[in-house]
Amino acid sequence: MIPYGRQDIDASDIADVVETLQSAFLTQGPAVEAFEAAVARYVGAEHAVSANSATSALHIACLALGVGPGDLVWTTPNTFVASANCARLCGADVDFVDIDPDTLNMCPERLAEKLAEAEKTGRLPKVVIPVHFSGRSANMRAIGALREKYGFAIIEDASHAIGGRYENAPVGGCAHSEIAVFSFHPVKIVTSGEGGMATTNDAALAEAMQLYRSHGVTRDPKFMQGPPDGPWSYQMVGLGLNYRLTDIQATLGSAQMRRLDAFVERRNVLAGQYRKLLAERPVILPPPVSDGISAWHIYVIELEPKRAVVNRLDAYNGLRARGIGVNVHYYPVHLQPYYRALGFKPGDFPHSEAYYDRALTIPLFAAMTDAEQLTVASALQEVLG
Ligand SMILES: *Cc1c(COP(=O)(O)O)cnc(C)c1O
Repeated sequence: MIPYGRQDIDASDIADVVETLQSAFLTQGPAVEAFEAAVARYVGAEHAVSANSATSALHIACLALGVGPGDLVWTTPNTFVASANCARLCGADVDFVDIDPDTLNMCPERLAEKLAEAEKTGRLPKVVIPVHFSGRSANMRAIGALREKYGFAIIEDASHAIGGRYENAPVGGCAHSEIAVFSFHPVKIVTSGEGGMATTNDAALAEAMQLYRSHGVTRDPKFMQGPPDGPWSYQMVGLGLNYRLTDIQATLGSAQMRRLDAFVERRNVLAGQYRKLLAERPVILPPPVSDGISAWHIYVIELEPKRAVVNRLDAYNGLRARGIGVNVHYYPVHLQPYYRALGFKPGDFPHSEAYYDRALTIPLFAAMTDAEQLTVASALQEVLG
């Protein structure tokens, strides 16, 4: 089976991890700080706070922004459930903004309309979480302008987008947001096994996220309430979690960061080749990116409603039977049983739902060979016509 995505671990990644395994620290040592510094430097953010997953990073990002019961957080339905769950974990309410069917990202026009309605009813969101779907940045200039107008905070869910660029800067530099979050799950662009990172240019937010990821406990007298009891003292100044990354994971993450540019370059070459290889198929291909560079976490095609000769299920099964590990991203989050129980229903976000019915993720990963890509293309020809 040619998978839709897969990690690429080489001998130098392994050698670095072995060295950490033989060192004094398996966790809470120097490797975590080095990985944070590497990501901050790469994306051009002042601070990077690691966590044991992007899910955890999204949670501490919401906590640091003060999201709590009675607050409202908006995201897109075309995402992994974690983009919405982080708000629910803080006790806040979630709502969604439909996608732009061309970019598959949160639609800025729909966001503007929804904000105007929300202002009338006094229910503006505290935080908006755009997702850079498939590695292509959301329209952060437009969403950022609405943030200026309405005063909400922005967390970019950049889980798909490390190594991508928006306008002329790396994704994650937070030019239009408070915080950006990356995932290092093995299927993403670089991996630490499990892992996540939140970048920000706001020192207070970085400090708050550091506290929340480690029990709300500090050893820094600056954050203590009253003088420390002794040089051994720590204080718990808030209610936090254990969301720490290990040094083992961080070492792998740093090693992978050195290969990030090569990974994204290869992913862009493969995406360019798909554009030619699939030009004759009855599918909608991802439109070219004019405002940056996609990191191409996934390559999504849509069956063209008028020209397709097979339905999506038959296409999926036919490709799987031919050893092509296709997948579907994403079942709209508002239709998940948990969110339906909160009152969401089919028809609420029609573009996300229509896109979902046609979508197929086909294999694309840095280690994919040209021969594997040709195998995928000919299977698509057989199955789709
Ligand atoms: C993968 C992913 C996450 C969660 O990442 P983990 O590191 O697995 O917790 C969150 N949001 C999006 C959009 C993702 O793709």
